Amino acid sequence: MAAVSVLELVRPRLVAPALAALDPGLLRAQGIRGVVIDLDNTLVAYGSADPSEEARRWVRRAREAGLRLALVTNNRTRRTRTLAGALGIPLASGWMKPSTSGLRRALAMMTTTPAETALVGDQLLTDILAGNRLGLYTILVRPIDRREFPTTRLINRTIERVLLRLLRLPPTPT
Ligand SMILES: [Mg+2]
Repeated sequence: MAAVSVLELVRPRLVAPALAALDPGLLRAQGIRGVVIDLDNTLVAYGSADPSEEARRWVRRAREAGLRLALVTNNRTRRTRTLAGALGIPLASGWMKPSTSGLRRALAMMTTTPAETALVGDQLLTDILAGNRLGLYTILVRPIDRREFPTTRLINRTIERVLLRLLRLPPTPT
């Protein structure tokens, strides 16, 4: 019984192939007013210094649909601050996910409640766990790039493969 509820903590509410595949108008129609977005491998390829045209287009569509946006990353560097600035999206600071402190800061910036906020991220153990702990509408997307932080690759993704199988969700491509 306990094992089942622990597993539910990492279960995304929705799985999508990519951020760009999410329809901002549909999210808005579901009552979502704000979206917390993970940066690396969700909005941009891991380590990328420039947002792609696809990322810019989605951000534009989201704004047109009336969604408020905030970024929360476990990789706070000059690069991520520059990226956030280039996209005009506030970067919420806090402890590393799965801590909820960054997400709570993001909600304060967007002035949204957990029930009207979605979280989009590419990792179960950081993004989805943090979002579920706070009661957000969690959306798991496939990582943009196969390259990522070595610890993520070696440890988190190994555990994630097991969890995805237990959740009966399709595996992350390797
Ligand atoms: Mg990520």
